[in-house]
Amino acid sequence: MNANIKDKVVIITGASSGLGEATARHLGERGARLVLAARRVDRLEALVAEITAAGGQAIAVATDVSRQADVEALVERAVAHFGRVDVLVNNAGTMPLSPLAKLKVDEWDRTIDINIKGVLYGIAAVLPRFAAQGSGHVINVSSVAGIKVFAPIGTVYSATKFAVRAISEGLRMEAPEGVRTTIISPGAVASELKLHSSDDETAAAVQAFYAANEIPADSVARAIAYAIEQPANVDINEVVLRPVAQEF
Ligand code: NDP
Repeated sequence: MNANIKDKVVIITGASSGLGEATARHLGERGARLVLAARRVDRLEALVAEITAAGGQAIAVATDVSRQADVEALVERAVAHFGRVDVLVNNAGTMPLSPLAKLKVDEWDRTIDINIKGVLYGIAAVLPRFAAQGSGHVINVSSVAGIKVFAPIGTVYSATKFAVRAISEGLRMEAPEGVRTTIISPGAVASELKLHSSDDETAAAVQAFYAANEIPADSVARAIAYAIEQPANVDINEVVLRPVAQEF
């Protein structure tokens, strides 16, 4: 059951909460060697302690994915500690929702920096290594908002997730031999993401939507594991998963 997951070196960005944290737990139980990245390193260290106490292997690396140097250093740290990288899960993200008319330009900038540039920096950091080793797997977390435009409150967020889909599909077409690419597009999943909106009216609507729909974060962890555990010549290009109750 753990073939193709056990001993793989998996970097997960945004592992300090939500989907990334659940994915770390799930892959840790299945024997992956984990490199956990986020800004809140105290939370990463608590998770590393939990995973290692259960017999797994993990390290924490303080990383801001909007800084290319941090992402380069993250991959170097993974190689220094575990000797290689097999999978990068580009999961870190933010979702400060509001209508365009609110002109929250600083939030637009931050969303683009984290959700788009962070993914590109991750790809830049692993691609030469994956090309040299003739294997590797980039898993990018997009969203159902990367398939349908989440207007009126999520136009910029959707734009970043459409970009993640485009980057992932382009990477699939351009990828060096042996390199796999997967897009994970979830609907409403329990995490801290629903708490990111500074616009009060939007925040209340988002939280009501999540309360009515959300499914646990381990649903995404299992989808990521499914993509990783396939034989090396099988590439799960995309997984879209929603709560059964969710219409959007
Ligand atoms: P959370 O807010 O719970 O987790 C976001 C994670 O991203 C945290 O670990 C956070 O860590 C990290 N992060 C944010 N900014 C940065 C940064 N600059 N550098 C490094 N890490 C950062 O939300 P989710 O778990 O829901 O989000 C994970 C991904 O899933 C995101 O890409 C999101 O867009 C996507 N998604 C989520 C859905 C949902 O309904 N929950 C649905 C569809 C997609 P820290 O703050 O410690 O840096």
